[in-house]
Order: sequence, then C-alpha cells, then structure tokens
Amino acid sequence: MPTTKVNLETTDLSNYRYDMSRCIKCKGCYWVEHTYMPGVKFSTRCPSNVWNDFDSYGAFGKMRIGTALVEGKLDWTPKLLEIVYADPLCGACDVGCKRNLDLEIGLSLEAMRVKAVKDGAGPMPAHKKIAENIAATHNVFGSAHNDRKKWLTKDIQVAEKADVLYFVGCTASYTNNEIAQATAKILNATKTPFMLMPDEWCCGNTLQSVGMLDEARELAKRNIEMVKSTGAKTVLLSCAEGYRMWKVEYPKLLNIATADLPFTVVHLTEFADSALKQGSLRPTKPVNVRLTYHDSCSISRLADPWTPWSGERGWMGTVSPRLKRRRGTQGLYGQPRNVISSIPGVEFVEMIRARENAFCCGAGRGTKEAFPTLASSSAKHRLEEVKEIGAEVLVSACPWCKNNFAQAVKEDGNHVKVMDFSELVLASLDA
Ligand code: SF4
Ligand code: SF4
Repeated sequence: MPTTKVNLETTDLSNYRYDMSRCIKCKGCYWVEHTYMPGVKFSTRCPSNVWNDFDSYGAFGKMRIGTALVEGKLDWTPKLLEIVYADPLCGACDVGCKRNLDLEIGLSLEAMRVKAVKDGAGPMPAHKKIAENIAATHNVFGSAHNDRKKWLTKDIQVAEKADVLYFVGCTASYTNNEIAQATAKILNATKTPFMLMPDEWCCGNTLQSVGMLDEARELAKRNIEMVKSTGAKTVLLSCAEGYRMWKVEYPKLLNIATADLPFTVVHLTEFADSALKQGSLRPTKPVNVRLTYHDSCSISRLADPWTPWSGERGWMGTVSPRLKRRRGTQGLYGQPRNVISSIPGVEFVEMIRARENAFCCGAGRGTKEAFPTLASSSAKHRLEEVKEIGAEVLVSACPWCKNNFAQAVKEDGNHVKVMDFSELVLASLDA
C-alpha cells in the first residue's frame, strides 16, 4: 500500500490535506452533542458560524476552502481573508470533530493562516498594526515600553531571585493592572517568593494566532532564553493566552515537546488550586454571590501539552507511528472550580455549555481587534446563558475574556458583574 510522509507542521497546509478533505459535513463542529446538553437552547459551539450563518464561516466550510487552497483552485480575495480570520480559533470545532472523525481541524485552521501570510495576503490590517507595535514597543498596544512595570505598587513584594517567575503579559501590564496586582498579592499572601522578567516583552500570541510564525518564533526564543538566564523553575501566568503560548505554542514553534521546556508553565488557577490543597491559600472571607465560571479557551481545550509528531499516512488514513491526539481534555477544568467552590458564601452554578463544550467569548487570538462585531456578538450570546442560569457574577481567568464581556455588559445595560479569577480569590483573602 502506498504511504505519504506527513507531520504536524502548520507551515505546510498540505500536511492537513487528508483531514480537510475528509470532512463529511456532519456539523459535529457546530452543535454540541445532545449527550452533553440538557436542551437545545444553548447547543451551538462555533462563535464564527453563529455570527455569520453562511457555511463558509463554520469549520466544515473552512475545510472545503482549505482543500481548494492546497489544490491551487482558490485565490485569496478580501472576502476569503475575512472568512479565514473572522474566527477566534477557539478549538471547539476540534473537540467536536475528534469525538466524531478524529480530524485535525484546529491545526488545519492555523495552517490556512500561515499560508495566507506566506502568500502575502494575510494577516488583516489590524493585525499588521499590532505586529508593528510589538516590533517598536514590545507590547501589542504600542504603549511606552518603560511603562510596563507601572502596575507594580509599593505594597507588593517582588524577589530579586526566586523559583517562580510571574510573566505578566501585555494586558495585565498596561490595561488590566488590577489582574497583575491581584495575582502578585495572592502570591505574597501564600508566601510564595516570585520574580519578574528582567525585561519583559510580549508573548507573541497575536503573531502566532494570525500566522506570523517567524516573528512569533523570535519572541519565543528570546523569552525562553531570558527565563533560562534567571534560573526560574516555574513560569506563572494570569493570562490564558499567555499560558497557551508558553506551554503549547513555544514548543510547537521550536519543534520540541512541552516536556522539553527547561521550566514548568503554570496558570494562576493551577497555582491557587495547589496552594489551597497545601494550606497556604486560605479563602476565609465570605463572598456572598451566585456566580458562574467561563472556561477561557486557552487554559482549557487549547491547553493540551504539545508533542511533535511525524510519520506516514497509509490505507484509510491510518497513521504510523501512533499519533496521540490532543482532544482538549487536559486543560485546567477542575482547578478553578475547586478554588471558587472553596470560597465561603459563593453559590457556584455551572453554565449549560461548560468545560470542553464552553462557548468562546469571541475576543481571543486577534479577533476583537480585526472583527469587533464578532467579538461583541459572541460575548452577548454567552451572557444570555449567564442570565439563563441566574448568575450575578461571571468569572473568567483571562483579561481578554474579562474585557470583552465587560464591554458587552455595558453595551447591553446588563446587570451581570464580570470579574477575573484573580480578583475573586483576592476578595476572599483576609488582609
Ligand atoms: S465535525 Fe469534522 S467532519 Fe463533521 S462537519 Fe465538522 S469538520 Fe466536518
Ligand atoms: S475555532 Fe471556534 S470559531 Fe473557529 S471554526 Fe472552530 S468552533 Fe468556529
């Protein structure tokens, strides 16, 4: 039987030719299976296709577009670029498809963007502006690099040298100082010494997400080398997208496994869960609210560790050696829920779509900057679900989710309060 050499590099869309061409349009990437759902009211999983009903915006449409691109039957047009980029790459379709057909949908979508950039068509103008900002100021906003540590208040203790390094990220450094401050105060409260990067730069999330892999790789190398020079054993993040970058995308960009990184990557939700179990985190102050938790894609279904793979594809699409699929099951699902449920006074209520089936807020991976109406429509759709279950507070663990939900709440005159996980935990600690 003839075989084809194949690997998981997103730099070559033809690696995903088999996956893209085998889509049977079952729409498991659009609907959440009824086995997981108590009803049909909140049963979709694709923000892009909910925003725009045309099939091309769903994963099943994009798989046909990808096949045509790889076969040279389609040229880039402004509309085609919109279809490829109006998508938060939330990974929900990948989870759904792998429950049905085991096709690599998420990586196919990424590889289409890499091709768009290689062909000189992508990314979108808003993304090019972000890339320019990063090159000039090392942050996505184009703000002064010297202001990066302005969030640091005098009551926070930062060590010169420590095992834990807190990578703050662009948003918490510039627009969401409350998250950086709450995270640092939680670390101080648990008596965990931590240091900061000697000179922190952007993690490169937007670059990687829009297909600018060369630029993202340079940042990955630079950031990893800098952590190595500090001797830190753990890199801790409060941003979900930053966590995905360090844990999954840096290894992917460098063709190594997550296990090969010379440090461990930990999100605040994970750290807080361990600290709670060890007794150093003591949430004793009541927070009397009925609240729900939104699984940010980048710490949940997009967070399975990375392992490079290359091999051969043979009869009926079988691959050899065995490919251990990333199914989104190894994300941080239990950790935030354990911590939230331990806070006295909290009445925790789950949303209808939770964990791997959560509906993305729509902001991440360059979407809000280029397609603000998509980001807004997804957040409003998710807020309907929050209202349905009667929660007063919506907690997420990513500044991008927080900002997007907060804006949607404001636009709709909604009464839901939006909080970051770090703020909730800090509110439960006695000063
Ligand atoms: S679940 Fe997979 S096979 Fe089914 S329509 Fe979606 S992409 Fe195609
Ligand atoms: S990644 Fe998310 S938004 Fe994009 S096609 Fe898949 S489910 Fe839809």
